[in-house]
Amino acid sequence: MFHLHRSETAMLRYLRRLADKDLALDRGMIPLGSCTMKLNATTEMAAVTWPDFADIHPFAPLDQAAGYLELIRDLERWLAAITGYAAVSLQPNAGSQGELAGLLAIRAYHRDHASEGRPARDVCLIPSSAHGTNAASAVMAGMRVVVVACDSDGNVDLEDLAAKASAYSDRLAALMVTYPSTHGVYEEGIGRACDLVHSCGGLVYVDGANLNALVGLAKPGAFGADVSHLNLHKTFCIPHGGGGPGVGPVAVVERLAPYLPNHPLQPEAGPSTGVGPISGAPWGSAGILMIPWAYIRLMGARGLRRATSVAVLNANYIAWRLSSYYPVLYTGRDGLVAHECILDLRPLTKLTGVTVDDVAKRLIDYGFHAPTMSFPVPGTLMVEPTESEDLTEIDRFCRAMISIRREADLVGAGTWPVHDNPLRNAPHTASMLVADEWAHPYARTVAAYPVASLRESKYWSPVRRIDGAYGDRNPVCTCPPVEMYADHDVVPAVDATADPDILAVSADARG
Ligand SMILES: *Cc1c(COP(=O)(O)O)cnc(C)c1O
Repeated sequence: MFHLHRSETAMLRYLRRLADKDLALDRGMIPLGSCTMKLNATTEMAAVTWPDFADIHPFAPLDQAAGYLELIRDLERWLAAITGYAAVSLQPNAGSQGELAGLLAIRAYHRDHASEGRPARDVCLIPSSAHGTNAASAVMAGMRVVVVACDSDGNVDLEDLAAKASAYSDRLAALMVTYPSTHGVYEEGIGRACDLVHSCGGLVYVDGANLNALVGLAKPGAFGADVSHLNLHKTFCIPHGGGGPGVGPVAVVERLAPYLPNHPLQPEAGPSTGVGPISGAPWGSAGILMIPWAYIRLMGARGLRRATSVAVLNANYIAWRLSSYYPVLYTGRDGLVAHECILDLRPLTKLTGVTVDDVAKRLIDYGFHAPTMSFPVPGTLMVEPTESEDLTEIDRFCRAMISIRREADLVGAGTWPVHDNPLRNAPHTASMLVADEWAHPYARTVAAYPVASLRESKYWSPVRRIDGAYGDRNPVCTCPPVEMYADHDVVPAVDATADPDILAVSADARG
């Protein structure tokens, strides 16, 4: 690509072509639950491009980085105030790295406080609703994972928690729980769960990725948790579609502060008693800290609280508006949700044969990125609008979901067959719709313009559906032997199915 586009004009057009294929926040809401796809304001991001911030080496002597250090200390102080914890490390590059850092702190604490001759505390209790990274981080930190059940309302089953905490009480290291839960509910038992685990000698890790439902309203450090990670690339506005750099600070209570990450080449980056570096650079992805700094500074305490309130209001509005079309799986007291809601599509699938994939792909025809699919509950969609979406956009989303429900009902009624309808064939590309042949039992206009507003502004998907599960189940290694690179401009494709050894290697690599 760099060799093809040799003038600014060509490069500009290339970028424009890529953007045209993209379904991003500049076109419509990305209602991915748990991901918090909120506005990444230009004002917040502008400083990332300033040479004063961009052109400095992560290991530059600190007397050349005084401004950076001020920015880092401001953020550490503000995040501690927001979460109610005593100390914060900005070193982790992702939420999952923050999890690892927090669990390593817990392990180090227990090691320092173990009584003579007692086994090390290494059991980590994790509710079945947890984000996949939680269990992975616990295993990486050398812990043994014990799963705690959820009750029928989706809350952590406190009886099961009590049973397991006492069964493992002399080995209990921690409970790792998300609040509000990945079921989108403020679990009222969270305080009791913390007390219970503390009484058995364990510490409490609260996964703070859902902080967009808490900032300004409640502090994990105040309701009983000992350590949390935050996702600055969710709640604090760093853009994160496409897997760019993130920041997953870990925040701890006083007694865990000596066990935060540090760095052998930079004494200022953490306590001398710390657990060692968790990422290569002393302050991780320092080059993007201007974004959360600007966000917090611009919002102020009252603005942050208002953002949280509007995020929760928006999620409840969607839950309320859509609940007669798609049941909301879990709610808390008074039928309310937190900052996201899970729409249960399983009854619809049973009734009509239309699957959660069909709805997710059909949303693309309506100009929406799909919500989070089949997480944490298979067959459901988790919707998180955030405070950044206004009523017009939220209503546009609700109208699309309601219209999709009507389409599904036509499938259920037999008007369209289960295997050939606007939902199963979604997304529809332009080339498919203008093809000379059209053999489907619905009109092209039904496929392309199911609601009138699409005639004015329409996103055209560049590709149709691929079978993701097929790819997962049929691994193909595309790593040719080194000799094949000799005298070839383009690496030839390898037919992996011809070589059982290649497949074996590939399967191992996956394992
Ligand atoms: C996003 C998320 C994580 C992981 O954060 P990454 O930055 O993607 O590593 C962990 N827990 C929950 C609940 C999340 O939503």
